[in-house]
Amino acid sequence: MLNSFKKIFSGSKTEEHPTAQYGKPDISREKSAALYEKAKSYFPGGVNSPVRAFKSVYGTPLFIQKGDGCYVWDADDNQFIDFCASWGPLILGHNHPKIRESVIATMQNGMSFGAPTALENNLAELILKNNKYIQKIRFTSSGTEAVMSAVRLARGYTKRDKILKFEGCYHGHLDALLVKAGSGLVTFGETSSAGIPKAFADETIVVSLNDEKAVKAAFKQFKDQIAAVIIEPIPANNGLLLQTKEYLQFLRDICTKNKTLLIFDEVISGFRIDFEGAAAYYQIQPDIITYGKIIGGGLPVGMYGASAEIMSTISPDGPVYQAGTLSGNPVAMAAGISQLTELLKPGFYKNLNSKTEEFAESIQRFATARNYKFKVFSIGSIFWFAFTDKESISSSEEIDPASMEKFKVMHRELLNRGVYLGPSGYEVGFVSAAHSKIELEKAKRAIFDSLDVVFGNK
Ligand SMILES: *Cc1c(COP(=O)(O)O)cnc(C)c1O
Repeated sequence: MLNSFKKIFSGSKTEEHPTAQYGKPDISREKSAALYEKAKSYFPGGVNSPVRAFKSVYGTPLFIQKGDGCYVWDADDNQFIDFCASWGPLILGHNHPKIRESVIATMQNGMSFGAPTALENNLAELILKNNKYIQKIRFTSSGTEAVMSAVRLARGYTKRDKILKFEGCYHGHLDALLVKAGSGLVTFGETSSAGIPKAFADETIVVSLNDEKAVKAAFKQFKDQIAAVIIEPIPANNGLLLQTKEYLQFLRDICTKNKTLLIFDEVISGFRIDFEGAAAYYQIQPDIITYGKIIGGGLPVGMYGASAEIMSTISPDGPVYQAGTLSGNPVAMAAGISQLTELLKPGFYKNLNSKTEEFAESIQRFATARNYKFKVFSIGSIFWFAFTDKESISSSEEIDPASMEKFKVMHRELLNRGVYLGPSGYEVGFVSAAHSKIELEKAKRAIFDSLDVVFGNK
């Protein structure tokens, strides 16, 4: 989301497909295009979240009319195997019957009360019984809200102001973290959006991922001032920038030594890599963890959690204020309960992850056999298509922006072959439990053909 967001500001526009004569003819997008024209008169850029605007790929956004299992259908009745999965939440696929039924049943009793319900307890119990990295939680209505609250909690708890973040990690659209690195090893953030006071960005330190030296230098320069280090332990918003366990352990140790809190932003990785997320995958105990996406089963839920001691800083127990009219909304809680209950069934993650690994490996084998400059990076059920010959990419500086031109072609060729990926080469894809082997085979064939077009073999 990060880079697509930047791209919109740099104003790239739709162009003709340079290799259209070799690929498949374009599917009809007339109805989507008409809806988009209308939407542009209602919403800035015609959308309610910028990455949806298709600024980094060919054509105009597809308007989706329905989803079922691993499929979505657009307004022109084109059918796609979907790997965007609403940007991550739909780990069971679209329109899962258990989630749908529990949502409908819950709605029979009303939509929202602004008073506690047993459903909040039920979802909390399901989570806390099965996650040893957090003791107390608070539900919010989005990932951004969860991160914003976690940052405030860290500042309130440590009585310090500065936050250290990493270039290439996205944490939602809160002011404190919409900042990017300047030039130099350790920099104050430069705002990556208009409308953020410089004074806010001055409280955020930005360093490159996978760079111990820069983190050490920051702790030296800002001794006793850093409230928290925040990282996506599995950075998946700007490509898939896998970090080593050693690096994450280094962050854990330097935070402990400096009485700085370590925040894992697991809005994507939580409940995705494993029920307990990246904390369990790497076996590292962060101080605060944020969640979102999967937790709400497709409805708006976020959450942050920590030890009971740290969480006692939150109001009404403590001095850090945080609230929400719709927080813990019963319908959203019901969706979360249904989804997470499925995830806790034996073998769920093993099946999903091995299916994804097979998928990623066979695409890689195809590309390698044809000497294509193309890598599939993957972990759990997350994958990223990168037009590179690097064996690993662990910081955003290693991504070649020029390679995104190839993604643009691939994206269009895939749409024409019935496969829907998020509309930016900086975005990862998600395999869901609803992607059967048959559909993954179909998707693979579309991917192979699209790669042939991208690399001029067709
Ligand atoms: C999606 C995401 C967010 C923001 O969540 P929203 O629900 O979009 O506000 C924050 N952090 C990470 C790591 C994310 O992937």
